[in-house]
Amino acid sequence: MRLTVLGGAGGYPPASGACSGYLIEHDGFRLLVDPGYAIVPRLLEILPPEAIDAVLVSHGHPDHVADLNPLLRARLMQNDESPRLAAYALPEALTRVLALDQITALEDACEVHGFAAGDAFPIGPFAIESRLLPHSIPNAGVRISAGGASITYTGDAGPTDDLVALATGTDLLLAEATYVESVPSGNASVLNSALVVGHQARWAGAARLMLTHLLPGTDPDASRAAASRSFQDWIAVATPGLTVEL
Ligand SMILES: [Zn+2]
Repeated sequence: MRLTVLGGAGGYPPASGACSGYLIEHDGFRLLVDPGYAIVPRLLEILPPEAIDAVLVSHGHPDHVADLNPLLRARLMQNDESPRLAAYALPEALTRVLALDQITALEDACEVHGFAAGDAFPIGPFAIESRLLPHSIPNAGVRISAGGASITYTGDAGPTDDLVALATGTDLLLAEATYVESVPSGNASVLNSALVVGHQARWAGAARLMLTHLLPGTDPDASRAAASRSFQDWIAVATPGLTVEL
């Protein structure tokens, strides 16, 4: 299984960057997790739009889903014979982004597969386990397994033991860490810090930790240092183009 980061910024895309977007490949199948703002230009640097076999969305915030629109446009406008794109999401998570466009054919370019947080289901060669993790709107944490390896992705989530349970023994915990150490009180239950996800990675027994969704302007070294206070193994910060083989 190979992970390629397309973007790892939280909130809005910084100059030359992109919000959440992760390409996960196994056995020739390409799963795009969270098509956030500005990930399509990063994707098109390495693949044509029709190369994506399926999309999996954690939640409906635009920094996780907005670029589904240009992805569908690119598929349609480059080749109107592109197969329909299977998109797996919680109920209502795609409603707004799919309503963005008035191109009628776009409605047929996407095949929505709804799931409930807690469901387990396959996408191509991947086994998906999901769990509701605390955020300001429904958010599914997902554990994606194939070929004997797993990646556990938080989406956006405040601190919770449910993440530790979902990520137990995972090969890579890809964790939202919007802040370095302290989360402003208004977001304390719905977003996380590098300091806390370091603890969660250790408690879960994760082999590796990748911090993502850092607010633009955050010093990645400070985030890595905060997480390393409790998690002493491999730590990376998600940046476009970073790849990991698992
Ligand atoms: Zn969010």
